[in-house]
Amino acid sequence: TVATQEIPTVAGAGLRVPLVTGGDIGYANLDHAASAPCLDKVRAAVDEFLPWYASVHRGAGFASQVSTKLYERTRGILRNFVDARSTDTVVFTRNTTDSFNLLARSLPKHTSVVVFDTEHHAALLPWKGPNVRRIETPRTRLAAVSAVDEALADCPQGPRLVVLTGASNVTGELLPVKEIAAVARRHGARIALDAAQLAPHRKISVRELDVDYVALSGHKLYAPFGAGALIGRADWLRAAQPYLAGGGATKLVSRDSVVWNSGPERHEAGSPNTVGVYALGVACETLAANWDGVVAHEEELLARLRRGLAAIPGFAELRLFDAPVDRVGTLSFVVDGFDPGWLAAVLSAEYGIGVRDGAFCAHVATKRLIAVAGSTGQQAVRVSLGLGSTTEHVDRIVLALRQIVARGARWQYEKPEGRWVP
Ligand code: PMP
Repeated sequence: TVATQEIPTVAGAGLRVPLVTGGDIGYANLDHAASAPCLDKVRAAVDEFLPWYASVHRGAGFASQVSTKLYERTRGILRNFVDARSTDTVVFTRNTTDSFNLLARSLPKHTSVVVFDTEHHAALLPWKGPNVRRIETPRTRLAAVSAVDEALADCPQGPRLVVLTGASNVTGELLPVKEIAAVARRHGARIALDAAQLAPHRKISVRELDVDYVALSGHKLYAPFGAGALIGRADWLRAAQPYLAGGGATKLVSRDSVVWNSGPERHEAGSPNTVGVYALGVACETLAANWDGVVAHEEELLARLRRGLAAIPGFAELRLFDAPVDRVGTLSFVVDGFDPGWLAAVLSAEYGIGVRDGAFCAHVATKRLIAVAGSTGQQAVRVSLGLGSTTEHVDRIVLALRQIVARGARWQYEKPEGRWVP
């Protein structure tokens, strides 16, 4: 029998979290790669700020001054967070997807774009036109560097951009960004780094990696939803049409003409997400002060998880997607004979474990990884660790998989209204 516990914060949604043993075991969130829970420090800072938030740049009142100050200060925090150049601009966006769409709209005419076909859709899809090259991702890191080299050699004259993820949201693999950036430089190309998954796990240095743009999302960085950023070279952004037309992006408007701002506000029309931006800044500062601990915690848990999965007896059905040793705490797998959606539903309903199933907004990557792992299908299960993860969570999912696979996929679960229930 599975006891359940009502969680006050989600009770309104009618959700109950199961307790495996009937003991004091709560929800095990192993889905940090989708969105990471808010840090206590961020929550406390937001709480303190809530009575004072106001529209930025729009008033002399105290609340507006406080908001404007914190909002503008956060640009500097983000610049430091990724060790950007002092001349780099910081545009606040909604998330990584928004940041790449902004960059795509800001490219000079006839820019050639080179991107691996296995990228997350946010990094894969915003680039349009005949000069976009989606190259097939090779199996090795060395071959990946050569593939970018070849693709760039093949590009017409003119501006060039390579778009690359720092850490895969499917396998956790850390990509050879520095090596690819060096090759791109030789061809006069700029590099845009998708740091949605890298930023919560590793310190980023724009200067050391020698990349031009970084896109990231607050909700993956232990801040609430709604704020992200595009950090990088100011020139293309300054010359581009404003991302949105409206108040805040303008310097001067007459009946027949508009003079747009040339700074980051050019692309931030409308009342911005002051609270979200502030929370993002606090999260970045907190992570930046604790990198050693963040990395050590994650590496210890990842090693424990991999050891645990490998030790499940007769678990040949589990096909873990391969990734080099250099990786963050995210891994995906399929289990032959088990539907990934069903597996995730059982993990949730019976063990109180939250994982992600599906193709992770990286359909090409997921499908290819399943084939390479020697299985079939389009979807997989992903386990992603983060600061909220504990050894108990890791041990629980290892035990759960052992038990589920031992029992076999024999009970029927219905799926009314799109939800799995026992
Ligand atoms: N890139 C990667 C690697 C991601 O994992 C994600 C989110 N799953 C994104 C981009 C897009 O992030 P967002 O949904 O916050 O725009």
